Amino acid sequence: QVKEKGRDAIEFFNEEMADKVSRQLVMEGDLHRALEEEQFALYFQPKLDVFTGEVVGAEALLRWFHPEKGLISPFEFIPVLETSGLIIEVGQWVLEQACESLQSLCSEGLWRPGMQLSINISPRQFRRESFASGVLATIEGYQLPDNVLDMEITEGIVIQQVEEAIDTITSLTERGISFSLDDFGTGYSSISYLKRLPVATLKIDKSFIRDIIDDRNDRVLVETIITMGRLLGLELVAEGVENKEQLEILKEYGCQFYQGFYFSPAVAMEEFVTLLEKRPSK
Ligand code: C2E
Ligand code: MG
Ligand code: MG
Ligand code: MG
Repeated sequence: QVKEKGRDAIEFFNEEMADKVSRQLVMEGDLHRALEEEQFALYFQPKLDVFTGEVVGAEALLRWFHPEKGLISPFEFIPVLETSGLIIEVGQWVLEQACESLQSLCSEGLWRPGMQLSINISPRQFRRESFASGVLATIEGYQLPDNVLDMEITEGIVIQQVEEAIDTITSLTERGISFSLDDFGTGYSSISYLKRLPVATLKIDKSFIRDIIDDRNDRVLVETIITMGRLLGLELVAEGVENKEQLEILKEYGCQFYQGFYFSPAVAMEEFVTLLEKRPSK
């Protein structure tokens, strides 16, 4: 009796695992075609100044429009890109797309001095030996002003080789690319990395902002992160701001920048342009 149950449990487990693996393989196959069939798009979520309401830049976020399944969340397909290694090619596409977008926004006078576009860099991309040189070679092909590009990394980049990570960040920072530590507070040792990685910006993870109104602990954590960041001379961006009340608290704590559905989700280039035209520089 017991033995039988045990065996069932194992089979059930195997089936579930096999199911997951096969779904990932199907997705991987689909992702192989996605680039050449132009199923990807880069969307833009505005970043705003908490105090002036000005748009100070944007985060570029990848979107995948599957021919049958429709829009698929990055939370589902980014991990598959990572494990399959396809992230290298797709990451390169994201960088080029970002540069192209910046170039056209600049030429149309919509990208004001000081504005920055952030792109997300996954650990597998960042840890390649040729990462920094590849990025520099790519951006050389575009006419971009200095300091317009920012790269969002997570502490996942520094499994083991902290020194290499520091070198990579430093060499790109010297060439006018800044770095942000994304999803701050969700990792295992955020604070110890903060001490070592030469980043300019801290992005407070949206899981802390979500309950900032009702959860006193989250409020204390956010206030502490903001205070610490400011004392360390870092810029602070709060992610996932969905309402005015959350924005008011961030203002009170002195967080300078925010992103979130309260102002706008990530939108396609056309809509982003409309948004920039509507909010002229102050
Ligand atoms: P992330 O970099 O932390 O991006 C923030 C996520 O929060 C985005 O999800 C954004 O759409 C979402 N978000 C923004 N404002 C709000 C809000 O007010 N409420 C809520 N609930 N969510 C909000 P998205 O676009 O689904 O991307 C998920 C993750 O996928 C990103 O997290 C990033 O880690 C990864 N990702 C997206 N694009 C790229 C890319 O081009 N390259 C790499 N390597 N990763 C990417
Ligand atoms: Mg990000
Ligand atoms: Mg984030
Ligand atoms: Mg993330």
